[in-house]
Amino acid sequence: MNDLHDRALGAYLGFAIGDALGATVEFMRPREIAAQYGVHRDIVGGGWLKLTRGQVTDDTTMCLALGEALLQGGSQALGGLLQGDDCLVRNIGNAYVRWFKAKPVDCGNTCRRGILRFLRDGSLQGDFNPGDGGNGALMRNLPAVLATLGNDRAFEKLSIAQARLTHHHPLSDAATVGLGRLLGSLLDGLEHSACQHWVAQWVTENPTFRFTPYRGYATAYVVDTVQTVLHYLTLHVDFEAALIATVNQGDDADTTGALVGMLAGARCGAARLPQRWLRRLQPNIVQAIKFQTSGLLALSPNHPN
Ligand code: MN
Ligand code: MN
Repeated sequence: MNDLHDRALGAYLGFAIGDALGATVEFMRPREIAAQYGVHRDIVGGGWLKLTRGQVTDDTTMCLALGEALLQGGSQALGGLLQGDDCLVRNIGNAYVRWFKAKPVDCGNTCRRGILRFLRDGSLQGDFNPGDGGNGALMRNLPAVLATLGNDRAFEKLSIAQARLTHHHPLSDAATVGLGRLLGSLLDGLEHSACQHWVAQWVTENPTFRFTPYRGYATAYVVDTVQTVLHYLTLHVDFEAALIATVNQGDDADTTGALVGMLAGARCGAARLPQRWLRRLQPNIVQAIKFQTSGLLALSPNHPN
């Protein structure tokens, strides 16, 4: 396994680990988590969704739906997107519909509204909606990053298109593109101090997402989500420390956990992910993630093969 493949797999598996770990304490306040768990640090299932141990939620399964559509289309569909062909975006919409019809364990309100709109009239985005500033488009963008590594124009076009199927809001767009570029840089080998630098520069250019002093909000509002993710990612170099601190902040803990798991997992690579967490994930999810990671990287222009 080469370095890029190890980091990409670290990102995808780290994402699923963060989802499974955080889901137990989703919508809890930090004080409630402390009272119930002390420090929440084990993948045990439960939570408001009554998950089995190791089960992931919509965050991971929506990523897999996007990844599936990208793999089906292949590099031809990606090329078409750059020529203005919306066939790939339509296929992504259809993948979200299939995902929705399979009765996922959870589905955010904005995602549901967008998927139902696409199903009703086939439109690839709704009008700008001030209520679309949730983190649902941001959370599922990982496969778009893997499939377009090394081609920033394709990355931005694909990211915005997949996002707009359900979320039409400039802060959702900015967060999706911003964290996607950060993931791309980490997959290129950005280390902790360079990552801190990158993030400091990015929030200078995107001051809405400034996170110092950290306000301690970890809601599904995309600004709160990004602030929490960047705060803990830059505070801790260690994957486990970053993830535990993130999910114990509670609220949208599966999504903040998934995104920190993705970025910190890219930084450390799959080989260094904690085994005690990796072993808890459902085997079919691990298998799908491994399959997609190889396939999506093969679509990207800077793939070594
Ligand atoms: Mn979720
Ligand atoms: Mn969530």
